[in-house]
Parts: sequence; C-alpha cells; structure tokens
Amino acid sequence: MAEPLIIVGKGMAATRLVDELSQRALGRYSIAVIGAEGRLAYNRVLLSPLLAGEIAEPDIELKPAAWWRARGVSMIYGRAVAGVDRAARTVTLEDGLVLPYGKLVLATGSKPLKPPFPGGDLPGVATFRDTADVGMMRAYAQRGARIVVIGGGLLGLEAAYGLSKAGGKVTLLHLVDRLMERQLDAEGAGLLAAAITARGIAVRLNSATKGFVGADKVEGVELQDGTIMPADLVVIAIGVRPNVDLARAAGLAVNRGVVVDDAMASEDANVFAIGECAEHRGQVYGLVEPAYEQARVLAMRLAGQKSAGVEAAYAGSLLATNLKVSGVGVFSAGEFEAGEGAEIVVLRDPTAGIYRKFVLREGRLAGCVLVGDTQGALFYLGLIRSGQDISAIRADLPFGESYCADGRIVEAA
Ligand SMILES: Cc1cc2nc3c(=O)[nH]c(=O)nc-3n(C[C@H](O)[C@H](O)[C@H](O)COP(=O)(O)OP(=O)(O)OC[C@H]3O[C@@H](n4cnc5c(N)ncnc54)[C@H](O)[C@@H]3O)c2cc1C
Repeated sequence: MAEPLIIVGKGMAATRLVDELSQRALGRYSIAVIGAEGRLAYNRVLLSPLLAGEIAEPDIELKPAAWWRARGVSMIYGRAVAGVDRAARTVTLEDGLVLPYGKLVLATGSKPLKPPFPGGDLPGVATFRDTADVGMMRAYAQRGARIVVIGGGLLGLEAAYGLSKAGGKVTLLHLVDRLMERQLDAEGAGLLAAAITARGIAVRLNSATKGFVGADKVEGVELQDGTIMPADLVVIAIGVRPNVDLARAAGLAVNRGVVVDDAMASEDANVFAIGECAEHRGQVYGLVEPAYEQARVLAMRLAGQKSAGVEAAYAGSLLATNLKVSGVGVFSAGEFEAGEGAEIVVLRDPTAGIYRKFVLREGRLAGCVLVGDTQGALFYLGLIRSGQDISAIRADLPFGESYCADGRIVEAA
C-alpha cells in the first residue's frame, strides 16, 4: 500500500514538490495536501501584477483542480493543521480531524511582520501576503485613497507600484537612506528612487514609523520626527517571519525557520521542511527559486532517485533579485558593494536611467547590479554561479552576452 505523505501548506513549494514527486514516483505515496487558505494553490509572485490590475485572479492559479486529481492528491482547503504528534505520526486539523502520516512535509511559508506599533490594530492597517489582502488594497486604490506603504524593499516597492497603478495616491516610507539596501548600492538605489518618483510615487527615506493615528480607523502614520503622514490605508511591507509554530510545538529544532539538513530533513527523519519556513545552513530564503530547488531535492529523496549515483542534496542558493518596478528593471546578484580586494566595472547613463555595475574578484564575476536595463541578467547570474574566469571578456562585460559571446569566454575558460 502507498505510504501516506502529508504536506502542510498549499503554496508554491508544496505545489512544486507534488509536481516533481509525481514525475518520479507517481503512486508510491498517497499524498494529502492541507492548506489554510480556502482555494487552490496560486502563484504568490503574481499578487503584484494582480494588485496593479495587469492580470485577473484566475491567471494566478498554479495548477487546475484536474491536475491535482490526476495525481491522486487529496486536497483539504481552508483548514489549518493545528498539531503534529511525531510519536503517533499523526497531524490534527483545527477542527479535530486526525490523519496518519508516514512522511510529513512542512511547507507553511511565512507571515508578514507586523511590529506592535501603537494603533497597529486600527482598520486600514494592512499587510501584503494573500489574495484577500489584494482585494482590500485594490478597493482603496481604485477610489483614489491616500496610501502609505512602509518598507522600501522588494515587497514594499511592488505594493507601491501596484497601488499607484490601480489609482492610489502613494507614499513609500523607508527606514534607511536607500531603497532595497540589501540588493542595491547607493547609486543604483538612487536611480531607482528617481525613476519611481518620476512615475508619481512619493518616496521618503530615513523615515522611522512611531505609530498610527486615527479614531476608529487609520487616518495617518506618525513618524519618529513627529511628522504625521495622512493615510486612508497603510500597508506594512517590512519583511516576513517563517511559520514555525507547528514545528516548534512538535519539539523540532527551530531557529528562524525549521532547521533542516541537505536532504531537507528535520532532526526527525520522517519530517521535512521546504520553502520559506525552512532554515538550511543558517539561511532562510524569502524567494521562490530556492523553494523550488528544495522541492526538487526532496522529491528525489522521497522517490529514492539518485543523480549520477549520488543522493540528491541541497547546497544552498545564490540569491538573485529580478523585478520591474514602474517599468524600471532591477537585477542584483552576489556581491553588490565592492568590498576589499574587489574591482568594479561600471557602465552608467544617468540621462537614460541606466546603471550596470560588475564586481570582480580574482578575474571572476562576484556580483552585479543592473538598474534600468536588465538585459543579460541570466547570463551574468550564470557567470557568477559558475565562478569561471572572465578576464578575457572584462571590457565587454557591461554590454551583454552577445558582445562577450564571440568565443573568447570559451578560450578563457
Ligand atoms: C506580493 C508578493 C510578491 C512576491 N514577489 C516575489 C518575486 O518577485 N520573486 C520571488 O522569488 N518571490 C516573491 N515573493 C515571495 C514568494 O511568493 C515566496 O517565496 C513563496 O510563495 C514561498 O513559497 P512557500 O510555499 O514556502 O510559501 P507560501 O506560498 O506562502 O505557501 C504557504 C502556505 O501554507 C499555508 N499554511 C501556513 N500554516 C499552515 C497550517 N498550519 N496549516 C495549513 N496550511 C498552512 C499558508 O496559508 C500558505 O498558503 C513574493 C511574495 C509576495 C507576498
């Protein structure tokens, strides 16, 4: 009989795991996917274009119901798992239903950070994580509301762009002196801020939030310097926290995320974690690509499939950020500030809003930042990941792959 495999969380990592596993070992497990959200799994990345009105809600579904049925997956919607009994190998749902497992995968994702600011519970103070958030935010934007987005990272920028495009009057507040400070150097961030401002979003840097004001709904954001920014809606987009309560209550090792090894296994060999809830070698990732790589490794392990005779193992992901804000392309990967011992090659065209910076170490590409023109991003990411010698194409590097591809990189390698 097929071994029962329960996946907790019906998000992007869970869907990819079912996909990868069913390609390798269809029928080996009897799979149940339990999701707290009351709908089929969807592509969370597409919430930003959904907010902007560039796509419609049906477009974000990852797989149709028939796809899940064809793989024999039991789907439980709109019900959260409330507990895991590792000794009995069961999970208990919030309504008391108990289900046995042979293998258990935690793919519970994250929840948005919402610091305990005074006034944080007022209606109109929101976060940006799911389809319900998008529906509410769009309703405000479409009636031209004044909206303050707190957080100038990837999520805050996407929220500001979507809300502005949908008709909102948006101000973006950021705590430090530059946007996307974990991905961009000062010059790249400055260009991005200028481009966003030119498109009608007010950007206010070095702005620490003190709390929210309002009688029975939010009416403004109070900053530490005493300024009050009027707002009908406030969207807090300052980061996420992995959903680890289940794992912690089950006695598993948890730091920021559920601690897993290279096989994506927790300290209990029958319990695994993938996606944003997992912590691997001290890293918790907040992006899709690592979640997909982890899902693939786990699928191979669960299917007993080896690659060239070796067990599949996850070695960590090199993070790259690639997004478009208000039509401005931004790409960042690897080392983006040139630290000691690094050299830089830069192409800048401030009038056209283009900035392309490459950080080199010992003849290898260690990182790059592209703002305004992200052409060649995947080519550069490949060079960073491969660690190959790029001395021969150094001068042509900023101009993209076609300039570098006339054989010299091959000769140099
Ligand atoms: C607006 C937005 C834009 C983004 N843009 C990008 C981008 O451009 N590029 C990028 O790489 N990443 C982006 N991300 C991040 C990306 O969406 C996540 O990295 C990805 O969704 C992680 O997948 P996951 O399966 O780990 O978590 P999720 O997709 O969040 O799925 C987890 C699921 O588990 C459910 N769950 C939690 N606890 C329980 C429980 N106890 N019982 C049952 N179900 C439970 C949750 O309800 C949720 O449905 C974006 C995120 C957002 C919100």
